[in-house]
Amino acid sequence: METKLGDKFEGKKRVPVEEGLFHQPQATGEEPYLIAAKCKKCGFTDFPGTPVCPRCVEPGTMEEAHIGKKGKLETFSIVRSALPGFTSPSIQSYVKLEEGPVIWSLITGVEPSEDALKIGMDLELVISKVRDDEDGNEIISYQYQPVKGS
Ligand SMILES: [Zn+2]
Repeated sequence: METKLGDKFEGKKRVPVEEGLFHQPQATGEEPYLIAAKCKKCGFTDFPGTPVCPRCVEPGTMEEAHIGKKGKLETFSIVRSALPGFTSPSIQSYVKLEEGPVIWSLITGVEPSEDALKIGMDLELVISKVRDDEDGNEIISYQYQPVKGS
């Protein structure tokens, strides 16, 4: 196989699960956020973003919004089966974001037990690994973790 200078990178890559869903901090001090859509007219916010506001149903009212830093645990379940590459058990949840939307997310940073979680507890956004792919790359996505001391 031909080797070019640019091919020297051999380390694991961190690959977003999907482009355009979230922002991963590139420097210290930067905060992660979700890339959502917000209606300029009525304030409706949706994640992942929709091109047309379901309330106004007019073209051109939705604009990109950076949301999701804080949320509250709406409901959760501890899932003891997992797809290949995922850790098990995992905590799957719905998180009510400060900006309004309720989104599906994995919960991280806490033991997967009923005692460790409380409906309504404060959560914060983290961008972290959800699984490895076949090439050993880290697949990263948005997840929520309990806010320390809450
Ligand atoms: Zn609207």
